[in-house]
Amino acid sequence: MNVSVPDIYIAAEFYCLMKKTLLLTVCLVWSIISAVYSRPLIDSLTKKRLFTALNAFLVAKEGPNKENKFVLKQDLLSMSALIDEMKGMDKNVKLKDNNYYRSYLTNIVDLNKNSFLVQVSYIGINDKAAVLRASFRLIARKQDTSFYFSAPLEQNTLAWKAKKIGNINFHFKDTLDLNEAKAYLKFVDFCDKKLDVKPEPIEYYECDNFPETLQILGVDYKSDYNGIKYDDITSHENNATLEISGGYTAAQRFDRHDLWHDRLHMVMPVDSINRPVDEGCAYLYGGSWGKTWPEVLALFKKYVADHPDADWLKLYGESTNFYTEGQKTFKVDYILNALIVQKIDREKGFAPVKALLSCGKREPGDENYFKVLEKVCGITKANFNDSIRGLIKQN
Ligand SMILES: [Zn+2]
Repeated sequence: MNVSVPDIYIAAEFYCLMKKTLLLTVCLVWSIISAVYSRPLIDSLTKKRLFTALNAFLVAKEGPNKENKFVLKQDLLSMSALIDEMKGMDKNVKLKDNNYYRSYLTNIVDLNKNSFLVQVSYIGINDKAAVLRASFRLIARKQDTSFYFSAPLEQNTLAWKAKKIGNINFHFKDTLDLNEAKAYLKFVDFCDKKLDVKPEPIEYYECDNFPETLQILGVDYKSDYNGIKYDDITSHENNATLEISGGYTAAQRFDRHDLWHDRLHMVMPVDSINRPVDEGCAYLYGGSWGKTWPEVLALFKKYVADHPDADWLKLYGESTNFYTEGQKTFKVDYILNALIVQKIDREKGFAPVKALLSCGKREPGDENYFKVLEKVCGITKANFNDSIRGLIKQN
């Protein structure tokens, strides 16, 4: 068969490779082969067409999701979330090898009515040992001679309940945490009003934890997420949002900080956003790393007290941490922007904040940032230290 890059390997080829290298895995690989080949439920022409379509889909997945011709518009919202998870899985960034992990088709099951369950794994060989990068589960739908791919989210949550509050459709297994659902609705509304986002439908799935989030979306395994208990996955397509929440902390269902980023990215091109200003807004409206804004501010004030002669312009330029907790860092440039945004918003409203947010990506020397900063609130490099000392005093 003429196979385009990235080559998909069927389980049998993988089996031969593995037999030579890792005897311990033979049982597992053999059981996959038995399932696919000893009970031939799928005719060879269908299998060949599915294989070819899947190959082409795996190449197309690196492009813009909405232009992927193997995804139907009605499936795009959930499939976009799954494709985002699949992007770049061939690459080994450390070794700068773009085709280090190869895609293996490990399972095809005929689900009837022209639907097939397809499982794909990305595996690399390191020192004769197999390294699993990620494993995904997709639904392939046959239409005439073509195949379209979708995420199994709907099938995996058929038994779930749903409750609509405002423009949000909450999907849950047993009982919806109403307080958190209302808090989520309120915070989305807050962000949307600041950013002039028109209310749009949100499909919100409330999972117990992040492993469940991955499981219902169709991510069987992804090495990035080993050991992660709480996180969420989102997508935005067809003027609708998907939020699959795997919790945030033991007490909070969702992360206000990341939700701010998500809402901003819906209305402002990512390339135009100045990251320290975006993070400043996220600190101010959503705290950071599970800490609320007042808690983050209290940590910063302790840093201020311990560093009475701080050169804020220098610390801003160097993106110094004012507090760390394990791998969680809290940055001076982010919190100074939180204070600046708070001042501008109080005095002049959010329009000038938007101008600062969209001043362009951070560049050495921050000339683009200071040019707009002076225009919207009069703060310059020359008066930066005095202005910041004034802002700290007010908080
Ligand atoms: Zn952030």
